[in-house]
Amino acid sequence: MKRTITKSQISDAVEEAYNDCKSISGGVNAHYIPYLANVDSNLFGITVTLPSGETYGFGDTEYRFGIESVSKVPTAILAMRQQSPQAVLDKIGADATGLPFNSIFAILLENDHPSTPLVNAGAITACSMISPNGDSEGKWKAITDNITDLCGSAPELIDELYKSESETNFNNRAIAWLLKNYNRIYDDVTMSLDLYTRQCSLGITTSQLAAMAATIASGGRNPLTGKQIFCPDISARITSLIATVGFYEHTGDWLYTSGIPAKSGVGGGVLGVLPGKMGIAAFAPPLDDAGNSVKAQSAVKAVVSKLGLGIFESDPVEIV
Ligand code: GLN
Repeated sequence: MKRTITKSQISDAVEEAYNDCKSISGGVNAHYIPYLANVDSNLFGITVTLPSGETYGFGDTEYRFGIESVSKVPTAILAMRQQSPQAVLDKIGADATGLPFNSIFAILLENDHPSTPLVNAGAITACSMISPNGDSEGKWKAITDNITDLCGSAPELIDELYKSESETNFNNRAIAWLLKNYNRIYDDVTMSLDLYTRQCSLGITTSQLAAMAATIASGGRNPLTGKQIFCPDISARITSLIATVGFYEHTGDWLYTSGIPAKSGVGGGVLGVLPGKMGIAAFAPPLDDAGNSVKAQSAVKAVVSKLGLGIFESDPVEIV
């Protein structure tokens, strides 16, 4: 028999997760990007959006934080939309690296290959793949329009963060040139790196990220606007990428203990996708040693476990 979960149970679970996790301490703000080091460490918010559009949020759900590596998700989707899922597989790959997000070693180990669009190397390659080729402002518009479509509202560039990252991104510059050496940059190198840095510096809220996650969970249909943004096939592809590498070298431990494919960013955001069921986003700045938000991880995990909705659970569930 199908187990049913009501929307009020979902709302209660999100509120309880917020209350259970709000006093969790531990972790430190990203220190290698000066802007992020200075964000208030006590900020915390969580939002769940259902395929039907209902949204349940608690805490600082309207605070705009740096999207950082969560931006790798929409740009991978855009590369699939503009080219194809096969092109992303051929030009970037879909393998976990098992290494930190900014690993140069991972590129060398893969023998020329960025592995996945969800680590820095693959995300810089993805930015180089976006059309229109050679046109920085056109590409930026495509990247931000895509995020706006996925969220149902626009992100806003945090100028100070963009400046802060551009002045300190020496490791990413090395990655970009190494990829160029291996013919894995499909446009101007400096432009591709700049687009990556700029997209990481977009300000976003948990409300917006939950809508993006729900769009992915709903086969590409944005539940807030009703607009079909991408074809359902892309949902399965992007969710598989998120599942294999979303938390970098902690991804296996995360999936084993949480049961939800999720992607983190060093701004403190986490975006989680339960296919067909819901999108979850949480945010709190202090990070663990792999760059994943300590409190946001606990909150997302708590929602999934309270509702018994992990993707590996075998009992059929219906949200009514
Ligand atoms: N902009 C950051 C970087 O390139 C993003 C890293 C992250 O969020 N994991 O280092």
